[in-house]
Amino acid sequence: MVAAGAEVIHVDVMDGHFAPNLSMGPAVCAAIRRAVPLSFIDVHLMVERPSQFLEAFAQAGANHCTVHAEVDEPHASLAHTCHRLGMTAGIAVNPPTPVERIESMLEHFDLALVMSVNPGFSGQAFMPEVLDKVRWLRRKVGTRMRVEIDGGVSPTNAAQCVEAGVDVVVSASALFGSNDYAATIAGLRGGR
Ligand code: ZN
Repeated sequence: MVAAGAEVIHVDVMDGHFAPNLSMGPAVCAAIRRAVPLSFIDVHLMVERPSQFLEAFAQAGANHCTVHAEVDEPHASLAHTCHRLGMTAGIAVNPPTPVERIESMLEHFDLALVMSVNPGFSGQAFMPEVLDKVRWLRRKVGTRMRVEIDGGVSPTNAAQCVEAGVDVVVSASALFGSNDYAATIAGLRGGR
């Protein structure tokens, strides 16, 4: 994937509580770090208590952790912990959550992640209505923060995402299901 042009390895972590599925933990992140020593590892924590895991992921070689706006933990302090551990920090919003809810948190974070499916399973259909959140964010933060989109992104809708203001696209099924990773990654860049 890295050889095919992927710039960031996005690791989806689910605890079976925040999202109705289980996935990988710090040990898998450490294995990825060994496999791709120079790649940027972007960990997406779809877990109820992200504060319990930030240190383990930092030790496992993560460069970045994104936590969800919907969790009941103090977001400013989660961002501060990421920075103290040498990582950048992101704040994510699920499709039903109004993006205005993260307005007061944005100053603490380096990235905002707009979910374009509900967390849980790969292969869901992209929800184009979330692009309004991307536009709102881009107007608010200018170029200070990265805006990432995650869920159902494929070469068919990536250009719309980029046009709305996204600068990091996450792709799983469109990429893993393709037989030409380099062509699909080029398509995800919207031909840029
Ligand atoms: Zn993700």
